[in-house]
Amino acid sequence: MATYRIIVIPGDGIGPEVMAEALKVLRAAEANFPGLRFECKEYRAGALCYKETETDLPAETLEACRTGDAILFGSTGDPSIRFPDGTEIAPQLTLRFVLDLYAGIRPIKRYAGVPSALAGDPAIDYVIMRENVEGLYASRGAGVKVGEQVAVDNMVITRQGTERIVRYAFRIAQGRQGAVRDKVRRVTCVDKANVLKSMAFFRQIFYGVAKEFPGIQTEHAYVDAMTMYMVQRPLHYDVMVAENMFGDIISDLGAGTVGGLGVAPSADVGDTLGLFQPSHGTAPDIAGKGIANPIAQILSARMMLEWLADRKKDAQLAQAARAIEAAVEQTLADRRNHTADLGGTAKTPAVGDAVAAAIGRTD
Ligand code: ATP
Repeated sequence: MATYRIIVIPGDGIGPEVMAEALKVLRAAEANFPGLRFECKEYRAGALCYKETETDLPAETLEACRTGDAILFGSTGDPSIRFPDGTEIAPQLTLRFVLDLYAGIRPIKRYAGVPSALAGDPAIDYVIMRENVEGLYASRGAGVKVGEQVAVDNMVITRQGTERIVRYAFRIAQGRQGAVRDKVRRVTCVDKANVLKSMAFFRQIFYGVAKEFPGIQTEHAYVDAMTMYMVQRPLHYDVMVAENMFGDIISDLGAGTVGGLGVAPSADVGDTLGLFQPSHGTAPDIAGKGIANPIAQILSARMMLEWLADRKKDAQLAQAARAIEAAVEQTLADRRNHTADLGGTAKTPAVGDAVAAAIGRTD
């Protein structure tokens, strides 16, 4: 029996609601794969935690994140609770920097039955790799404001930071079957190399690393043009790689083309640690109503199992990850399981129940 210690941080807003469904699905995976055990322990972080304890990321939570096998994160923040300087409470960003979770992995996949914002509901399936700890957001908390006249944030691009995210992107492409349209394995560098030196450097490093992966096609696109291509020809893409802020923006655009944030999972991983959380935030407008879509959280748990399977060389984990994926496919194919964001009337727990039940039918 392999036991994995999962650090569970439900957080604020809809975080606890969608997390309950992901845990339900992990229990179903345990029941169907008797060799697996997930020791899930909850820890606090976020806005409510800050209000009650004066810290948004308690030392005990951070220590658990450092020592557990993986971190399953909900969402944190609350517009009405802020730090004294007015900034938002976002311990997940702190964790990215402190734990060096440099690779943001954002699958953009449309599941059958889920309406796309794009005409014809294309069968979109690509991955955005976002550099997570440098780029423009490296200035988080470190920018300069001079009086009421000038403010400056810097774009930070390092050779080491860029090489490792680009290499990761190529490795992800190696594990995929290529772009939907032509089955060609392809990595696209998304940048603004025509305007910024930092971005020209990013692209130069991209093509340097690409030489290590001769079997994979390479190309580049300016980020502004990319926002158009992602709408016009999404099936051309396989894997994209971008600096932090550009990756952030195109990830949400991508999510919008496959059904929205409620179905968009993500992983933030480093060389030894991994944090898995939905792309959405705390959705305060729908929190407490039982109508949040738990699929992004469930798919984030699935990514966690896939990542753990690779790290621990555990084939059962990989099987369990595939079973969750198949269960989500089955669930979403039936419109009765669609929550309000997808145009349906299903409640959060009903969707979790449907995915959990489907796991038993997929192995
Ligand atoms: P944050 O600053 O924490 O990212 P936000 O309000 O800017 O918060 P989200 O929380 O991601 O951003 O929400 C954006 C919109 O998407 C909201 O209208 C929200 O209700 C909706 N939304 C986000 N996640 C879900 C979900 N899981 N199910 C249904 N709707 C969702």
